[in-house]
Amino acid sequence: MNFHVLTLFPEMVNDCLHTSILGRAVLKGCISINTVDIRDYADNKHLRVDDYTYGGGAGMLMRAQPVYGAYEAVEKRIGFRPRVIYLTPQGRVFDQQMAKDLALEQDLVFLCGHYEGIDERVLEEIVTDEVSIGDYVLTGGELPAMVMIDAIARMVPGVLSNGDSARTESFEDSLLEYPQYSRPEVWHEKAVPPVLLSGHHANIEKWRREQAVIRTARKRPDLLERAVLTKEEQRLVLQVREEGKDGSLPDEGEHE
Ligand code: SAM
Repeated sequence: MNFHVLTLFPEMVNDCLHTSILGRAVLKGCISINTVDIRDYADNKHLRVDDYTYGGGAGMLMRAQPVYGAYEAVEKRIGFRPRVIYLTPQGRVFDQQMAKDLALEQDLVFLCGHYEGIDERVLEEIVTDEVSIGDYVLTGGELPAMVMIDAIARMVPGVLSNGDSARTESFEDSLLEYPQYSRPEVWHEKAVPPVLLSGHHANIEKWRREQAVIRTARKRPDLLERAVLTKEEQRLVLQVREEGKDGSLPDEGEHE
């Protein structure tokens, strides 16, 4: 899968996305990161990419012309009109399902704004999706683009060394992931739940699923609206709600 990032700060994006798991995925050829410096496409002597906003108001706006030039360069390079995501606090809020859907594309273009944003006219011409990473305002679209690329790339086959880890993670089945433990067996007088040491795979799976339900009921009950739960799991959710009322909650050990 090919990610193209239109930005005024390509070094920021390159440094981050060529590190760790994504860096290895690039070397393996599972993904590619093509940063395009919008400034390279400015048509004026001083390579100016921003200007004052018509009608007044504080701050500068990114000009339409260099943004369009950077987009055209990508379109020419890949030979078709790609999906273009403009990172903006005004967009639909990004989530795991969107990451999965976008991972099916062959090429994705991310347009990073800066200053007060970008001239509306070029957005109207090239943008197919407006996406926000949350209800707050950042100084630029680079961090949101990197957040999205990280989440999307993890869904691309071959990027994670253990394909299972993406399947059992938080938000799969609309549940948060169960608690996990590593060595030693006892740390600060806290023991690893015995079922995890039993070697009994069916019991371990059952315990993990129950813990995922309990966790989600405690931390993100809103997610449960979309979860498909068995009768027994629904009872567990009710129990968490009931016990939560008097301040006590089921222990991890209680549902082994
Ligand atoms: N004036 C714009 C507004 O009120 O909608 C905000 C501009 S913001 C200071 C500069 C750039 O940061 C935006 O063009 C966008 O690319 C990016 N940005 C800021 N917050 C974001 C968010 N929550 N999600 C995605 N992108 C964001």
